[in-house]
Amino acid sequence: MIENITDPQDLQAKYDSVIEKDSKYVMQNYGRQPLVLSKGKGAVVQDICGKEYIDCVAGIAVNNVGHCHPIVVRAIKAQAEELLHVSNLYYTEIQAELAETLVSVTGMERVFFCNSGSEAVEAAMKLARVASGKSAFVAAEHSFHGRTIGALSVTHKSMYRDPFMPPVSSETAFVPYSDADAIRKAISQNTAAVILEPIQGEGGVKIPNPEYLKEVREICDETGTFLIFDEVQTGFGRTGTWFCKEQFGVEPDIMSMAKAIGGGFPMGAIAAREGLSFGRGQHASTFGGGPLACAAALASIEAIREEGLLKRSKENGAYFIGKLRNMDREDVVEVRGKGLMIGVEIKYPCSKFVDFARERGVLVNCTSDSVLRLVPPLVITKEQIDKVVDVLEQA
Ligand code: PMP
Repeated sequence: MIENITDPQDLQAKYDSVIEKDSKYVMQNYGRQPLVLSKGKGAVVQDICGKEYIDCVAGIAVNNVGHCHPIVVRAIKAQAEELLHVSNLYYTEIQAELAETLVSVTGMERVFFCNSGSEAVEAAMKLARVASGKSAFVAAEHSFHGRTIGALSVTHKSMYRDPFMPPVSSETAFVPYSDADAIRKAISQNTAAVILEPIQGEGGVKIPNPEYLKEVREICDETGTFLIFDEVQTGFGRTGTWFCKEQFGVEPDIMSMAKAIGGGFPMGAIAAREGLSFGRGQHASTFGGGPLACAAALASIEAIREEGLLKRSKENGAYFIGKLRNMDREDVVEVRGKGLMIGVEIKYPCSKFVDFARERGVLVNCTSDSVLRLVPPLVITKEQIDKVVDVLEQA
């Protein structure tokens, strides 16, 4: 039961009891921060005491349209009154409409719906395997594609992988990111696909050299290998265009999407180019493409359009990066990013920055030990960016 409390002492007790209960009953190891969140609006979240924070984590690149965007909230409420769930054994108008909309924003031919980023990567891997008749993958060092066992087999970080060896596909070759020749050498007779993030997110906001993805596309064409782009983190305006692939002028055969697709509602999807599709029974999902998720996704796409968020991501991103670069701090190694996907590499572990910033009303997180990741809602204002930079500079 969640009650409304206003007395500061009672609130502190409430804080402590939430943390105690969660620590006791939830099976997880997120290394959660001591913060109990209860509300969000635009680029700001509120804890249960009413303290506000500018949210540069945004559910980890999920809340692109901002917290509780009215278009998304309205659509979810309206859909909830009509139909919550039906089996994919039947058609729904809303799923067909979202499929058409996603085909139009991705420029691909067909989509498959699931419920998360990892599931989207699983679906992309299955499609590449079944369509090629081959089973191996080439992926990049420092890649992150998810934690389900299939997706884990193309995820590089040993901390995530090692406890679960052997993975499902033990044939993944990991090659340095942004090195097309390494990909050429790693492709074998049995390689189904090369899977890459157009910008590596968890790996530390790493941007490849401008020709890399084009060269990989050519290599895949020459060798008859599928190319999968994992746009789970880079999609839906995050980098200033609908998808990051547009900025490199390269089309994959299959792309995975999730995170921001539902404006905060869980959903995942893949899109594939002409001629690539699952045969009957080859893949399915109970909840994938459910009415509520489809309503949320259609609304989130509408909100991106209505609010001109692609342009705002580009402009505010350039403003943010410019200000961060102007900080003139010796402990900053590099500020990099596209749109509002920004990494600040510093000379030492960044966890202390995270605590310092939170205490001053700004939420950020670390992707690798020394890279602060800033992926705020695309609706963030210049004033809010100024405050974030101010706090980071003090930190
Ligand atoms: N792919 C990429 C590029 C990601 O960044 C993530 C999540 N950080 C995933 C896949 C997995 O997504 P999920 O947590 O929704 O399973």
